[in-house]
Amino acid sequence: MGLDWKDVLPSEEEIAEKVAWILGSWGCERPACLEVRWNFRLRTAAGRAVLEKDLRVELNPHLLARHPEQFLPTLVHELAHIMVFCLYGRTPKAHGSEWQSLMRRAGQDPQARHSMNVDGLRRKRRKFLYLHVCKGCKANVIYRKVRRDIACGACGPGEFLILRSSATPEGLELLRRKAAELKMAGG
Ligand SMILES: [Zn+2]
Ligand SMILES: [Zn+2]
Repeated sequence: MGLDWKDVLPSEEEIAEKVAWILGSWGCERPACLEVRWNFRLRTAAGRAVLEKDLRVELNPHLLARHPEQFLPTLVHELAHIMVFCLYGRTPKAHGSEWQSLMRRAGQDPQARHSMNVDGLRRKRRKFLYLHVCKGCKANVIYRKVRRDIACGACGPGEFLILRSSATPEGLELLRRKAAELKMAGG
């Protein structure tokens, strides 16, 4: 599966052309503050429309590299959210009649959800808990991963003892008991 996304995904110029074409099909100007970009942190969502001070369409490169034919429908979908916001504000429903009408005018089926294969893209559930105990004062904190970037509020940067348990209520209880024991044993 040596698929390089750069070989498959549209270039910036191609994206800009598509955006212009879609906006043209709606008779709309491109909003000055609109940005369209890839977001490598997206997992199973094909894209998202960010409606803040700046307007931004973010597209999922993992998913769209697998399904290049879904690039245009996804871009239209997210741009339609942007234009509904520009034209009507936040009142309309996300996938309501205004959005559906824009989808149709750009030649797309107004489907709210994509049906692309998301195998392997779901966020992995973290299976463990990690108790971090300051070796100085025995203060403790529990994280879902090993953290090397933490410092003790009292002792500052220093060494931490790290204990692992399963991410279950029992595992949590075990770590809490262990933390209490260490504290009792004194610092
Ligand atoms: Zn949507
Ligand atoms: Zn400490």
